[in-house]
Amino acid sequence: MDLKELESNWIKEFPTPLVIAGPCSAESEAQMLETAQRLKESGADVPVFRAGIWKPRTKPFGFEGVGVIGLNWLKKVKDEFGFKTATEVANAHHVYAALEADVDILWIGARSTVNPFTVQEIAVALKGTDKPVLVKNPVNPDLALWVGALERLLGQDVKNLGAIHRGFSSYQKTKYRNVPNWQIALDFKNQYPNIPMFVDPSHICGRRDLLKDITQEAFNVGYEGAMIESHPNPDAAWSDAAQQITPEVLADMLGSIQIRNSDISGFDEEMGKHRALISDIDFQLINLLSSRMKISEKIGTLKKQNNIAIFQPDRWKVITEYANQKATETGMSQEFIEKVFKAIHEESIEVQNNIMID
Ligand code: PEP
Ligand code: MN
Repeated sequence: MDLKELESNWIKEFPTPLVIAGPCSAESEAQMLETAQRLKESGADVPVFRAGIWKPRTKPFGFEGVGVIGLNWLKKVKDEFGFKTATEVANAHHVYAALEADVDILWIGARSTVNPFTVQEIAVALKGTDKPVLVKNPVNPDLALWVGALERLLGQDVKNLGAIHRGFSSYQKTKYRNVPNWQIALDFKNQYPNIPMFVDPSHICGRRDLLKDITQEAFNVGYEGAMIESHPNPDAAWSDAAQQITPEVLADMLGSIQIRNSDISGFDEEMGKHRALISDIDFQLINLLSSRMKISEKIGTLKKQNNIAIFQPDRWKVITEYANQKATETGMSQEFIEKVFKAIHEESIEVQNNIMID
């Protein structure tokens, strides 16, 4: 079976978008129950409670999770407050323990997704389970590795799947802990529209003040859910303190986020007209670009015959100035037009270069 054929009906049992929230790490029974109680009382629509039991930490000798005892606390959260529960599994032992403790949803962390041996081990341990399994993107920006992990799960008949976008490592310091690289997640969504996509703003942002915008952006582009870290006393959290928010702040944030509809029925006729026009224009754009490249080839031949360098800075200056002027006249951003013309110019140089080499 192909990943593209999956129906992912599991998510339809939940409200959309599906919000999963809870502390980065389970720390104590009291902390877990307080988080659960305050999430309930805050009125936030959070059907699934998360907590990390085994924690993958970058440096050794820190807090590495409470281990299996935390599974009892998750069970209590489920029994006393009616949440479904979720935790991270990173090897076969974690899987057996989590299944035994009847955790409802499992996820594979970003540091595990990068390792095909680990993913394979987890997939085999999960064989045939109907529990939903969510796969975080690998820490490195590699779509194939992300998809490959889901394929390994499907290969073991694990069919209730989802993906979590938690951002990607970069050596450069940015305002994010893990840069979003939206394009990778959007490519995933385009190729596998049936697999629910969750945003994990906590690990993308690494700080509280950016959480709302990232979550809103994800819902704007039609993500099906979010996983957000929430702790009763964030500053005192044993892991990821700077990015956690209290249940009350979470409820406020969710209340202020606009949920957009992906269902266009009702105005599909009007939408259809606009889309037909857009397709028509795209077709014209492609034809125009093709005509432009053909002329560029002729120029390339001329340059070759007369032994002239391909790149003529003066000419490029005229083109960009004209483009900038037209951008302003037509109310478009110069930045956008510059990007488009750079791409066209690059291709043009490539075309002429091929003629020179010929
Ligand atoms: C987590 O969810 O707490 C976690 C460790 O996330 P990630 O795998 O995205 O780093
Ligand atoms: Mn965390």
